[in-house]
Amino acid sequence: MTDGARVATRPGVPPQEAATHCPYCALQCGMLLRANDGRVEVLPRQFPTNRGGLCQKGWTAADLLDHPDRLTTPLLRDRPGGELRPASWAEAVDRVVTGIRTVQEGHGRDAVAVFGGGGLTNEKAYTLGKFARVALGTRHIDYNGRWCMSSAAAAGIRAFGVDRGLPFPLADLGRAETLLLVGANPAETMPPLMRHLADQRSRGGRLIVIDPRETATARQADLHLQPLPGTDLAVANALLHIALTEGWIDREYVAARTTGFDDVRRTVAGYWPAEVERLSGVPVADLEATARALADAGSAIILTARGAEQHAKGVDTVTAFINLTLALGLPGRPGSGYGCLTGQGNGQGGREHGQKADQLPGYRRIDDPAAREHVAQVWGVPADTLPGPGVPAYRLLDSLGAPGGPRALLVFGSNPVVSAPRAARVTDRLRGLDLLVVADFLLSETAALADVVLPVTQWAEEDGTMTNLEGRVLRRRALREPPAGVRSDLAILADLAARLDAPARFPTDPGTVFAELRQASAGGPADYAGVTWERIDRDEGVFWPCPDQDGPDTPRLFAESFPTPDGRARFHPVTHRPAAEEVCDDYPLHFTTGRVLAQYQSGTQTRRVTALRRAAPGAFVELHPDLAARLDVAEGDEVRVVSRRGELRAPARLSPTIRPDTVFAPFHWAGAARANSVTNDAVDPVSGMPEFKICAVRVERAES
Ligand code: SF4
Repeated sequence: MTDGARVATRPGVPPQEAATHCPYCALQCGMLLRANDGRVEVLPRQFPTNRGGLCQKGWTAADLLDHPDRLTTPLLRDRPGGELRPASWAEAVDRVVTGIRTVQEGHGRDAVAVFGGGGLTNEKAYTLGKFARVALGTRHIDYNGRWCMSSAAAAGIRAFGVDRGLPFPLADLGRAETLLLVGANPAETMPPLMRHLADQRSRGGRLIVIDPRETATARQADLHLQPLPGTDLAVANALLHIALTEGWIDREYVAARTTGFDDVRRTVAGYWPAEVERLSGVPVADLEATARALADAGSAIILTARGAEQHAKGVDTVTAFINLTLALGLPGRPGSGYGCLTGQGNGQGGREHGQKADQLPGYRRIDDPAAREHVAQVWGVPADTLPGPGVPAYRLLDSLGAPGGPRALLVFGSNPVVSAPRAARVTDRLRGLDLLVVADFLLSETAALADVVLPVTQWAEEDGTMTNLEGRVLRRRALREPPAGVRSDLAILADLAARLDAPARFPTDPGTVFAELRQASAGGPADYAGVTWERIDRDEGVFWPCPDQDGPDTPRLFAESFPTPDGRARFHPVTHRPAAEEVCDDYPLHFTTGRVLAQYQSGTQTRRVTALRRAAPGAFVELHPDLAARLDVAEGDEVRVVSRRGELRAPARLSPTIRPDTVFAPFHWAGAARANSVTNDAVDPVSGMPEFKICAVRVERAES
């Protein structure tokens, strides 16, 4: 038996089953949970995304249900520097309400902030946004999806007028003659997705990967382009330059379906392949082969992920690849287009229903008067009582406790002590708060700093909906009751709202919340009005927009037009610029971060699963053997990676597959091995996405 997989059913009680989805990433693999003889089993389930597959994280997800570290009682800290102690719910809620009132009376409503997560169900994300705007009356809410999806989202809205990660079902990947992955490593981040790539290969398709590291995905590619981190934008512009020079542009499509091409044409004219080779290290021949493979194909798809997006120019980098797809006439064509691979479990739905600083449910803008009227009417409050836009996640965290900044923070489903850039500074900010409240089911590193910790349900104990990377709304189904002492996030928010005399109802039943969410999203870009739980059950999920219960949903977008005022997609000229921090004599190496197969995000959950811990026991620093030799570092030696912001320590792992000028560390670990002690807090000016993927460091052998 694996860790903590027992449930509160008695031997002899008939097995119960729940067809649900994995609690981790945005692939949202279908799984069947079975409670049998006191134990929860996870079985794979046929679903269009995972087609019967699960990765090791999914297989072991039930290990946390009754894990010894599971929180089953609220915790309180009586004084700064004191220990957390168990408390009753009444005492904990009293403390939160008193703390919020004290801070708001002394410093105004915006002095309390909320930080959400991309793993929360749609119902929770929606309720959290409503709670912030209606119960707290604060403009300060944002979430960890800023770390994940914000650059691709902003680029998608800018070009297409809408942000849906994949504007087509995942199965379309299998039909693409050419598939280009940019900064994406699904072989490690979402292995069941590789079944679609295997389909593509079996049909004779070509796979091209752009990644500074020779990842498990890159090793399967027909062609691997290995650019210097931070030069993807230049590579994309060079590909478009080649397509223009060779006459491969789909002029009919560009004329009929887009605007702004002339500016882009003039811009990319300067991206001579030989110059881009000097800048990025990608040979001209590989650039030409890639452009030809995309242009020659009857169908072609370009997908980006965090490698391309987590930069201070992430929006422009994604835009450069979108420009390329538009010029080749791909978006809206069968088996073709641009998409991004969303990361977190509800990274898509979590960014649609109001936990972003500038947003109301249905992907409406909070500064749009009509949107405010609509949502305020659903909530039963005057529109002029809704606060205006707040600030993106890093700005919010960096302002905590500072003059004029929030003095209290409520965190739901996030662990910024590990996941935020320049994490030591964020940790200091959290320590400076008058009140930090964390709702979680494990004592994350952020919860360990809190004044109040509220224990919440896990995925197998709750109903609700998630929206996967395809924009497909799915059902999460409860298998069992939560342990005694644990409450749902919805119940916590409803209780707090009532105690704060909120002028609106906060239902605790997820079905009732979803019905309200449907109304609130009606008419918005992410329209869920026609999505019902019954329809999700019947149709293996429902793709938004789906405005009418009796009308069709929308598996594929853009076939006829784009949701822009004139129905056309918009080109935007974008130019390469250096990383926010360049290498120098003191910090001569590039540092980049990412994930490993057996861990997930900040590791709060997966670091506690025995099988995953065995598979990936700790952090490491990957470096090229030539670099290691120069530094006198051997395999397994403890090394320090030092940037201007801090350092991490971890054993060296030598690999000839990484560039000799670049080092890599995974970001799942805390303490001395925390990769985000090193990362740069420069952010994209449009999306607020931090530059996780490149900064300047030096590496040295650690003194033992
Ligand atoms: S690929 Fe993602 S959704 Fe599927 S089992 Fe693994 S972590 Fe879960």
